[in-house]
Amino acid sequence: MLDLTPILDAVRLAADLTRRVQQLHLKGSEKTGREPVTIADYGSQAILCRAISLAYPDDAVLAEERADQFVTLVSEESRAHITQLVSSVLGENVTETDLVTWLEHGRGKEAERTWVIDPVDGTKGFIAMRRYAIAIGVLEGGLPVAGIIGSPGYNEGLLFHAQGGAAYMQPISGGEVHRIAVSSTPNDAPNPHVVESAEDSHADHEGLLQLLADAGITSPVLERIDSQDKYAMVACGDADLYIRLPREAKPKHKVWDHIGGTALVQAAGGMVTDLDGSPLDFSLGAILSRNRGMVVSNGQLHERVLKALADWKVPGT
Ligand code: AMP
Ligand code: MG
Repeated sequence: MLDLTPILDAVRLAADLTRRVQQLHLKGSEKTGREPVTIADYGSQAILCRAISLAYPDDAVLAEERADQFVTLVSEESRAHITQLVSSVLGENVTETDLVTWLEHGRGKEAERTWVIDPVDGTKGFIAMRRYAIAIGVLEGGLPVAGIIGSPGYNEGLLFHAQGGAAYMQPISGGEVHRIAVSSTPNDAPNPHVVESAEDSHADHEGLLQLLADAGITSPVLERIDSQDKYAMVACGDADLYIRLPREAKPKHKVWDHIGGTALVQAAGGMVTDLDGSPLDFSLGAILSRNRGMVVSNGQLHERVLKALADWKVPGT
């Protein structure tokens, strides 16, 4: 079976880096714009891709950030700063050229296995000191076969992974690894715990309330959470349902925003589909072009939501 240990270690290092960027640039100070955030994205991706290049050099990588943008959009000063931060986190001297090489590692390669990476998922949450995730999914034959979600803002910081059909959780700072499973909240529960995007622009929050009412879920416990932490919450039973109702008729969901979470929820015994009840199709490149929205559940509540969705009118159609 695929050994995730070196990549789990890299996610811990990446979390160390993103936390340092938050401490240095965001906490208690005036927000200094987008650049500090992007350096966290680039630094995290460099650390993750470096680990993949060492442990699985022949595998392909599909990662959100690009080296050409790092060089052209980030100032020289910020590039030097992130290079120094990555050196400090790794405990070795790295150069800007190393970062550029790692950022592009495995891109466009033909391989049996692809690592799909969102180095900072939930950027708006990251900036606002809310939740964000360091998310990785492993794709083989078009299917998610493993996943890692590093969640620095979930309780004291949690690290989730799925592999070989089982899902696990541990403190991100290290400690005991526990097997996790979805909740046993039954199909007819009136008040399941439902999670949705924190950002209004990312999902139709008013629509969700209507949909839940249509499904007979009259008193949901609703929580707004950034990033794939929502999938992790369903996987470990902290939430029963995650529904993503896009505002657009043809949304362009990114593969890296969903694959790690999907692997985790499925391995924990839950279900992930789009609003039509179809599985998410991860075989089409960077965009989930065959899927609209997501229903993520403990399995038991799934049918009820899909039934209500059968009569759902897509806004703008
Ligand atoms: P979430 O916190 O679950 O809303 O997911 C965050 C992800 O949503 C980001 O990584 C983006 O890729 C994606 N995103 C950004 N803008 C939008 C948008 N306007 N509509 C839908 N998704 C978006
Ligand atoms: Mg993302």
